[in-house]
Amino acid sequence: MAKIAINLSKGTIEKDSNIIVGIDLGTTNSLVAYMKDGTPHAVKDENGKNTLVASIIHFGQKEEVVVGNEAKQFLVQQPENTIYSIKRLMGKSFKDVADLEQYFGYKVIDEDTDSLVKIRVDDKFYTPIELSAKILSQLKSRIEAELGATVRKAVITVPAYFNDAQRQATRDAGKLAGLDVLRIVNEPTAASLAYGIGIDPEDTQIVAVYDLGGGTFDISILQIQQGIFEVLATNGDTFLGGDDFDRVIVDYWIDHYGLDKSLLKTDKSRSQAIRLEAEQAKKTLSTKDKFQSKLGDLSLELTRETFEQLIRPLIDKTLKACKNARTDAKIEPAQIDQVIMVGGSTRVPLVQQMVSDFFGKSVNNSLNPDEVVALGAAIQADILAGNNKDILLIDITPLSLGIETMGGLMDVIIPRNSKVPSKAGRQYTTSVDGQKNLKVAVFQGERDLVKDNRKLGEFILAGIPPMAAGMPKIEIQFILDADGILKVKAKELRSGVEQSIQMRSTYGISEEEMGKMLLESIQHAEEDMAVRVLMEAKNEANNIILSSDKFVEQNKALLSEEERTTTIELTNALRESAKGTDKDLINKAMDELNTYTHPLAHRVMDANIQTALQGKKID
Ligand code: ADP
Ligand code: MG
Repeated sequence: MAKIAINLSKGTIEKDSNIIVGIDLGTTNSLVAYMKDGTPHAVKDENGKNTLVASIIHFGQKEEVVVGNEAKQFLVQQPENTIYSIKRLMGKSFKDVADLEQYFGYKVIDEDTDSLVKIRVDDKFYTPIELSAKILSQLKSRIEAELGATVRKAVITVPAYFNDAQRQATRDAGKLAGLDVLRIVNEPTAASLAYGIGIDPEDTQIVAVYDLGGGTFDISILQIQQGIFEVLATNGDTFLGGDDFDRVIVDYWIDHYGLDKSLLKTDKSRSQAIRLEAEQAKKTLSTKDKFQSKLGDLSLELTRETFEQLIRPLIDKTLKACKNARTDAKIEPAQIDQVIMVGGSTRVPLVQQMVSDFFGKSVNNSLNPDEVVALGAAIQADILAGNNKDILLIDITPLSLGIETMGGLMDVIIPRNSKVPSKAGRQYTTSVDGQKNLKVAVFQGERDLVKDNRKLGEFILAGIPPMAAGMPKIEIQFILDADGILKVKAKELRSGVEQSIQMRSTYGISEEEMGKMLLESIQHAEEDMAVRVLMEAKNEANNIILSSDKFVEQNKALLSEEERTTTIELTNALRESAKGTDKDLINKAMDELNTYTHPLAHRVMDANIQTALQGKKID
């Protein structure tokens, strides 16, 4: 029975829509689409103009948040409060992104560990999941306004090369935005679906998807047969896109008009204005031969011919990546049946021409390149909704399966809606020196704390040889067969000790109960995330306290009295805050301790290397 609720303040009828929406959560732009009268349709803003929402989040003075095109203007004025390219940080630890630090205008922090990055805005700390959820919420309200109904289910796209952690982070962002993410779909798969490729199960094709966006370039080669999309190879450049086209135009103008470079560095609003003009010039030249404009007393000009000269080397770089992908996929040029163009930057005529020359065939570019991924996601969503009777739906697992980790958190190993049979694994380690046993408790459900999920079983991996905390490598594998039997294996890789258990994943649970668990997970997503973030901060704080105590103890001789007392004071402050429940306070204390000890740690390390070298000389 459908429920209908009336919103008294707006006087509108609120109902749940059973439409599953398709979302392209992009690095530069995001958008939402759905199936309307049998064709996919991208949703526009309230003015009926743009379908794209800039993937930018601005935090104002009183924590008010602006998402999308309105946030763009703050990029230059308030870089530290304006978050862009958050997709680059999804599911990443600080180690993964340490060398990108300069790229971001905002503060990306972590404690030099394997844990996931956080973003600091004033005294608040956010995870990439929370920030992406803000973009998703914006898209959710946009489509709800169009449909006049609540939307709860979505398909979200990710690049084909995203790993499990990045995919799981994307799912979590969806959940936090109040969306049940039925499927994570590869962007090139969605683009192919938008062109109708792979919908007919008889269809067998090899497709190259060329995706040139704002800041990234991806080439994927897919083999499609019997409705299955297999990624044969991916390649690309995570720092090459339309932004670089803008940059070469700005550089050209500076050179050509003899503009003062150092002045542009200090006058940020002027340099931003020139950059925006450059983007306008680029877009104009996609349809015209010449661009002309005035910026104050400055007349700016650019011909298509000059523009093409400037960007040719950049396009050549993308073609090299295409060549590598083709080699990796072991595909001869003639075997590629179709080339699909994705991303706003493929509107540039020279890009289309050079790609078409490279592959030796005309390219598919009849659909809007910045919408094509979202349109395909909407088609995939419609298939999942069972609206396309020609397509057989494969068996999937209805609830996520995972294990309990530190602080009672649920760590998902096989996400809900994964294909059955399915196999997945992850590595863990110990948290105490000399730990011999590890308890593996297996749970099912969507909540962040295992206490709110269903326990399926547990066992103990015993006989781990004594090692320092963090040294053992324990691999946990989940193998789910077609009948829903789950086998869980744990193995310490250094010593080879192993243990396993088998259980029935669907035993004693009705469909109604499953539905209830799902609904609860979305209703409690915000508070669950708050607890998760707090527990993670506490775990991390405890690790840092341990190593800081060790550091002071072991390097007495190398630290001055003041350095020693300050480190101890900051460590004690962290110890205190870690007892409380304010995650921002804990994060702040960690950040302060790390900022202070970072140079000390370097000095101590250098000194230790010196001693080691001297020791060698003496022998
Ligand atoms: P992403 O997938 O990275 O989120 P998009 O596919 O939305 O990015 O591409 C954004 C890029 O496309 C920007 O650099 C933008 O300037 C560029 N772009 C948009 N329209 C045009 C156009 N008409 N001509 C050339 N470039 C364009
Ligand atoms: Mg994209």
